[in-house]
Amino acid sequence: MGLRRLTLVLIAALACASAAAAAPQPGELAAQTNYTQAERPLDAIHFIVIHVSEGGFLGTVSWLRDPRAHASANFVVSRTGQVQELVPLHDIAWHSGNWAVNEQSIGIENVGFTGDPAGFTTSEYRATARLAAVVARRSLMPIDRQHIIGHYQVPDPNDPTQGGGIDGHTDPGSYWKWGYFMNLVRRFAYPQKWWREHHVGLDVRSSSVYGGQVVAGRVPWKIDVGGPVKHVAFLVDGKVRWIDHVAPFQFAGGHQLWNTTTLRNGVHKLELRAYGTKSWTRRVFTVRVKNQPFSLAQVAFKPNQRVSGVTPIHAIFTGKPARVALLLDGREIDHDTSAPYLFKWDTRRTKDGKHTIALVGRAPDGRLVRSSVTVVVDNADVEPKIVSSSLGDGQTVADVQHWLVQTSGKIDHVEFSVDGVVRSSATVAPYAWDWDTTQETPGQHQLLIRAVGSDGTVAQQSLTVSVAGPSAG
Ligand SMILES: [Zn+2]
Repeated sequence: MGLRRLTLVLIAALACASAAAAAPQPGELAAQTNYTQAERPLDAIHFIVIHVSEGGFLGTVSWLRDPRAHASANFVVSRTGQVQELVPLHDIAWHSGNWAVNEQSIGIENVGFTGDPAGFTTSEYRATARLAAVVARRSLMPIDRQHIIGHYQVPDPNDPTQGGGIDGHTDPGSYWKWGYFMNLVRRFAYPQKWWREHHVGLDVRSSSVYGGQVVAGRVPWKIDVGGPVKHVAFLVDGKVRWIDHVAPFQFAGGHQLWNTTTLRNGVHKLELRAYGTKSWTRRVFTVRVKNQPFSLAQVAFKPNQRVSGVTPIHAIFTGKPARVALLLDGREIDHDTSAPYLFKWDTRRTKDGKHTIALVGRAPDGRLVRSSVTVVVDNADVEPKIVSSSLGDGQTVADVQHWLVQTSGKIDHVEFSVDGVVRSSATVAPYAWDWDTTQETPGQHQLLIRAVGSDGTVAQQSLTVSVAGPSAG
């Protein structure tokens, strides 16, 4: 309709008000006095004219059924997409204000107002587009803007340079989205063709990670696309994990592999979205992640345990590591690549006090596991030391000397040497040797005490003594 005249708007409004009391029955047609019965074949329809009702659905339907309206339309489409047929396709509705156009067209009223920025609903567009698509296909009408037209495009029969029919209507107006609407009509009329045109070659042809695949570790993920693809999004369980802008499209641009080890074992949904300039397509599939278990038992020290000497550290894994490192205060001091991953940590090479010792295992698929603990290195107590010797440097000795050595730390044994030859070895404290000096040549002799610790370290002390000559008496 697109009524410009205030009087007609008022009549329509009144019609709407009365119609609210008596709702129109579905399927009821317009009064036969406000349209022209005809037996026109479908291919006699050359135009579809889009109108705006300038009123509500019930009011519009009531009004266009009323013989006083002297107007009608083939269909009225509500804002919820409800379609009311008022004039059958083979009959001629009085809708365009131009008899020649009415004769070879159908008119569709869309509920709304031409000047209302609110425009029209998606349901309304879709319902009207479906109607237009069916009519266009049946009547073999081209789907373009020369054949699907607005009321404003219908020539005024008195002045063909003017549009809007005899009353100069302007509907559907600037809030009608022609581009969107025409795309819908094409899509409904030619679903296969529409798809081809909008996705011409735009396709995810293949993916190196594919549906039903069982994956583990780090996996290369490369895809092959067809058509003008600008970028590809890689989604895992609905989250975008990478967007690649350069062909050949691949996860992380091919600089990294797709890491499945951060996912729980089981089925995961993957999605590839290939974006063109105007449209996009996608491929969705599932894979099963199946990573072997990989874990590391806690380092077998209690927190702040005192350690000394050479201490074994055993790395115990579930699963098989490719490499195991032993770290002291964050710095690698040893590593191993094969079982049994048994390290010997020489604590004497570090200062006494608190230190963090850590094991880091790396699985063949790149997973890292770590176990660390803080211990207290205390070698002061265990280090062998010679505290005192009963023989002193420069002393003169005679007869049998009871040579007693006092030590501290953990001692394995103490050796007593004379002139470079070990003459006695004591393994039990008190460490002592009864040296019969009468068997020695009188004069100076070099003595050496060696205290060998249980950890293999040695403390030693040397001294020179003089053996007295035979007693004068
Ligand atoms: Zn109109």
